[in-house]
Amino acid sequence: MNPDIPIVRELQLVDCRIRELTEEIARLPRYIAEIENKLESHEIALSKDQAILEENRKDRRLMDGKISTYEQKMSQLRVQMGEAKTNTQFRAFQKEIEFSKNEIRKTEDSILDKMVEAEKLETNVEIAKKALQAEKQVVAKEVERTTARVSKDEHELAAVRNDREQLITGISPQVLALYTRVSKTRQGVAVASVSDERCMACNVVLRPHLTQKLRLGEEILTCESCGRILYRGNLQETPLEDPASGSNIVA
Ligand SMILES: [Zn+2]
Repeated sequence: MNPDIPIVRELQLVDCRIRELTEEIARLPRYIAEIENKLESHEIALSKDQAILEENRKDRRLMDGKISTYEQKMSQLRVQMGEAKTNTQFRAFQKEIEFSKNEIRKTEDSILDKMVEAEKLETNVEIAKKALQAEKQVVAKEVERTTARVSKDEHELAAVRNDREQLITGISPQVLALYTRVSKTRQGVAVASVSDERCMACNVVLRPHLTQKLRLGEEILTCESCGRILYRGNLQETPLEDPASGSNIVA
């Protein structure tokens, strides 16, 4: 067998692994940023609810104060009413007392509304706090796990790149140049296995003279359709190009 064929196959495996690792190393930090941003948005939402709750408490304190003021005013008015000299004065004080009573009633109603609102807010804040605590733990674990994974990937990538350097020293320059050229035009997949007289990458049926030569295994041969370097192998590969486009014997 042509000695470059097994090397090219090995090189393809190594290059696929390099690509997988490179993609994963790029993807993992984006994943971390995503879960951290989500956590931050939940923290912001909780702070907003807590601020609304604080505002609600402040409003209720102010309304309590308002009621006290009206109550004080009413007791003064009652004293003044008792000292009224005329009916007109008496009625005026009475009217003012009525007004204060009404204001107190309205304020009490508002306090009740605020209390109902506060109850809902408090429940939400408590639920959100617990959920956030759990989410923080999950995020911390994910960050730890992902950081370890990236580090492992980087080590493996260095080792695989080293393997590649070793591999290409054993291949003839022309075959390496062919491999590199096809790899660039074919999304990083420069070799294809042949099964049932078909190129398993593009699904095209090979011409008989090509399959004959392949059987001999002496030459480096390429698919006449996709240009990939062919090898006979038992490895079953999924066709890379849409098989629905049909298989043709290349004329
Ligand atoms: Zn092909």
